[in-house]
Amino acid sequence: MTYEGVKFQTEMIGKDLPNDSRLKKLKYWCQVFHEKNLAPPYDGGSYGNLSFRLEDGQDKFIITASSSGLNESNTNDRFVTIQRIDLEAAIVYASGSRKPSSEAMVHAAIYHARSDVNAVFHGHCDRISKDAEKLGIPITSREEPYGTTQLVDRVLETLGDNYFLEMRNHGFLALGKSLDDAGNLALESLKKC
Ligand SMILES: [Zn+2]
Repeated sequence: MTYEGVKFQTEMIGKDLPNDSRLKKLKYWCQVFHEKNLAPPYDGGSYGNLSFRLEDGQDKFIITASSSGLNESNTNDRFVTIQRIDLEAAIVYASGSRKPSSEAMVHAAIYHARSDVNAVFHGHCDRISKDAEKLGIPITSREEPYGTTQLVDRVLETLGDNYFLEMRNHGFLALGKSLDDAGNLALESLKKC
């Protein structure tokens, strides 16, 4: 059996759907990611997850639900609020009607480490992965299975004060002070490829 690393568990602690005026913007960027193939669809979902921080100085954020297509209907049930994450115990505490994306802990670790970051957009793009090294994009030191504490460790090692990085053999992370900053950075990186 291959070692899969420590996977995070999700605990749902409330059913309230996220409700925030910036959800409109998040839906817009989900659609752009879908259209530009930055988060390719698969049967029942998309290879990508987008989030934004709810309040300055806090780690709470709203993220796309697990197994949700980024071009899905416009309802708020496709998003989940991450209330907090226990990195040591590897537990994600969330509220909403669905489970959060399996990459929620990577988003959480970034918000925790970087108070200047208010949006984290993750996508899978072959063109960016292929050109990352040539373009001088920081790349994590080695591949780790998704959803694990090991992946979080690799990202934190590489994060520094970068706004764009590549998770080796996986996908990219575009960070921003705002949702538009993160989205535009992803588009700019795609254009350079
Ligand atoms: Zn991914």
